[in-house]
Amino acid sequence: MSARLLDGRRSAEAIRAEVAARVAARAARGSRPPGLAAILAGDDAASRVYVASKERAAREAGFVGRTVKLPATVTQAQLHDEIERLNLDPEIDGVIVQLPLPVRLDEDAAIDALDPAKDADGVHPENVGRLWLDLPGPAPATPSGIIELLRREGIDRAGRRAVVVGRSRLVGKPLAALLLREQCTVTVCHSRTRDLVAACREAEILVVAAGRPALVGPEHVAEGAVVIDVGIHRCDDAALVERLYPGDEKRRRALGEKGYTLIGDVDFTRVAERASALTPVPGGVGPLTVAMLLVNALESADRRSP
Ligand code: NAP
Repeated sequence: MSARLLDGRRSAEAIRAEVAARVAARAARGSRPPGLAAILAGDDAASRVYVASKERAAREAGFVGRTVKLPATVTQAQLHDEIERLNLDPEIDGVIVQLPLPVRLDEDAAIDALDPAKDADGVHPENVGRLWLDLPGPAPATPSGIIELLRREGIDRAGRRAVVVGRSRLVGKPLAALLLREQCTVTVCHSRTRDLVAACREAEILVVAAGRPALVGPEHVAEGAVVIDVGIHRCDDAALVERLYPGDEKRRRALGEKGYTLIGDVDFTRVAERASALTPVPGGVGPLTVAMLLVNALESADRRSP
């Protein structure tokens, strides 16, 4: 392997420590702690884990951390009542509506109901517009975390060719806006892109957020490119794990003990032979998402009550 590993855990820890120091400085000047609340509707197992880790991180950084749990049978009107309660709660600066919502519910309407000033994940249409207009405001946490990782790892962005695979609202599209802001020349690929290999090979910075296990192999990667793998998948296919991580005892053990190991959208070992830097899964982009949510909520607290 020749690629340098980009350690998302280390950057995320540093960001969380900086946030905690800013929260302590607020307390020292007599300001209240920032507050972050998540709304969790239904019983999606992955969402429960994500929300618990957000609440834990918030509390560890000195925030008021709260989770509003709603049953899967909650109505749209009840959901909006809860959102409005948090919009009006003076202790709360950041609100997350954990997605996906139960299928009956209208996600767009729920996001519209958020106070844009408390939109911790930068998903409200007003904040999406502000992002593309280069106006101040929260940007979605995962793409913000990717920019922060590049910055902290000393990877130049200005003038470089960046290719993003994926155009979702939470990752691909906002990341394209942030990379433009960083002065990259940006291409966005998606499932209808005609020649994905050729498009990806143009990249000096390649970010893969397609939600397709091991979609991107060495043939997609120019020699020396920086590759960021956003995908997260529970993989229980021992043959695939052995192909992606030949001889990796830790992963083999995880498969035996937990029944799965986490893999990304990139064929890790073979891409590492061509890339100059690469994020691992787990321990790459994932930890930065929670850290950047805290940053967004803290900045909202600083704006609302300095
Ligand atoms: P998503 O909403 O499913 O979007 C996937 C995007 O990839 C779509 O734009 C889709 O194109 C494109 N795509 C799918 N197959 C493709 C292919 N074969 N070639 C080119 N493009 C393709 O997913 P997401 O929410 O952005 O998440 C992407 C991945 O990142 C998932 O594995 C998710 O679990 C992970 N994730 C990780 C974090 C984190 O904190 N690390 C946060 C969020 C998401 P179309 O638009 O044409 O359908």
